[in-house]
Amino acid sequence: MAVVDATLEVGNLIGGAFQPARAGRTFESRNPADSGDVVGVFPRSDNTDVDAAVAAARDAFEGWRRTPWPSRAAIILRASELLEERKEALAQLMTREMGKVLTEARGDVQEAIDMGKFIAGLGRHAFGETVPSELRDKWAMTMRQPFGVVGCITPWNFPIAIPSWKIFPAIMAGNAVVLKPAEDTPLCALRFVEALADAGLPAGVVNVVFGFGEEAGAALVSHPDVAAIYFTGSVETGRIVSETCGRMLKKCSLELGGKNAIVVLDDADVELAVDGALWGAFGTAGQRCTASSRLIVEQGALDRFTSRLVERASHLRLGDGLDAKVDVGPVINETQLKRIHSYTEIGKGEGASLLLGGEIATEGALAKGWFYRPTVFGGVKPAMRIAQEEIFGPTTVIIPVTSMEDAITAANSTQYGLSLSVYTNDLRTAFHAINELHSGIVYINAPTIGAEIQLPFGGTRNTGNGHREAGGHVLDEFSEWKSIYIDYSGRLQRAQIDTE
Ligand code: NAD
Repeated sequence: MAVVDATLEVGNLIGGAFQPARAGRTFESRNPADSGDVVGVFPRSDNTDVDAAVAAARDAFEGWRRTPWPSRAAIILRASELLEERKEALAQLMTREMGKVLTEARGDVQEAIDMGKFIAGLGRHAFGETVPSELRDKWAMTMRQPFGVVGCITPWNFPIAIPSWKIFPAIMAGNAVVLKPAEDTPLCALRFVEALADAGLPAGVVNVVFGFGEEAGAALVSHPDVAAIYFTGSVETGRIVSETCGRMLKKCSLELGGKNAIVVLDDADVELAVDGALWGAFGTAGQRCTASSRLIVEQGALDRFTSRLVERASHLRLGDGLDAKVDVGPVINETQLKRIHSYTEIGKGEGASLLLGGEIATEGALAKGWFYRPTVFGGVKPAMRIAQEEIFGPTTVIIPVTSMEDAITAANSTQYGLSLSVYTNDLRTAFHAINELHSGIVYINAPTIGAEIQLPFGGTRNTGNGHREAGGHVLDEFSEWKSIYIDYSGRLQRAQIDTE
């Protein structure tokens, strides 16, 4: 497939062909570091476009589910190799379209490469079970089967990694996919799917419908021929998606928000904790579901931790992520910029001390984009809104506590349960914390970001609905079990009755 020019008007990818939206509407993707830079023009799809994509996926599904697992795996592996060859170009595109600094954009692409290789290995590893029957001359076993056509809806903050986390395992298991990527990062998503097409994926196995959540996204969720929805995004949207899926009895996997915390105890290596807090809070300009947006610090470490963090954060350089000297890129769009700033006002109103930042940055070239200064609040109470609500920007809050138990209580005190971390040099404290922290991910002496694809990823409470992506059990999310009984006795045998 021809690689699409970055400034070109792009169509939906349906059944292997690019098509404009049936209603003729479009939207633009813009560079958040320079809002005058249009990355591409995309179809603003509605339910008629989604209908066409689902029909193409349904057509492709029958052939794909019959394709042997190792043959499907070979295409996924080839796609990963193509992503590897294209890594630098993809990373540069990602920085332009999404804003994260180039080193992080390379990491995002690398995550997709790793995921592809990991999933391809499952092509010869998708074991079922053979178990003894309770009856004579009867065989009992299990095998995996795909759901059918599945919908994937993704956010903008990991514009290639997150589509890869869903699409690679979905097609490995034999499903056909319709992807509705975030409206802020459509070209990154398309580039990812192009690698699959170039690797030999049959047309229609993965289709892409661009557009807005309430239009294309909602149409995909409510489509009667879509058997399962894999959604990553906010709690608010997740609830809407889940309600529709619940009504329609669809499988629905939700990966939602976080209000993650680093706990720094008195015995911690404070400088190491500051390293972790800087990376966890301001990496990706705080726009990670696992961002370290709360720093819960025990009294004995508080003064040193606070002064070092504020000192070092004050030296972070804002700018276009393509510039190697830049530490923190822009936030995704103007709406988000204003939302982040509104939380600064909320924090001040709640009586927290603004220790750093708290401003939209507009000097020089920064005026062209959506930049927010790294922001630190001190003296924050666990119940304050800035300590409870996901801000999704470069804002972090320091919550003083007087004991480890108070720290754990504070860490567990939000509606979210994605990633929690503890800095301590005491082994017993570390294991106690691992047991008591109620989250899907726990780090010891590392920040709340940095998940690896070979472990399950997801969270407790309102971070999701009990599902996990990635990890060794990933196929459980993307396939259903079929239990098979083969009776070769030649007579009727009744389970639970004719046993000896
Ligand atoms: P969002 O919920 O606004 O949008 C996510 C996706 O859902 C987009 O593609 C959007 O178009 C679509 N959408 C919006 N309304 C819809 C509707 N009514 N029906 C169907 N689809 C709809 O989230 P966002 O702003 O793109 O992403 C940020 C959020 O994602 C944060 O809350 C962050 O924590 C979360 N996130 C979670 C994880 C995780 O794995 N837990 C990873 C990354 C991001």
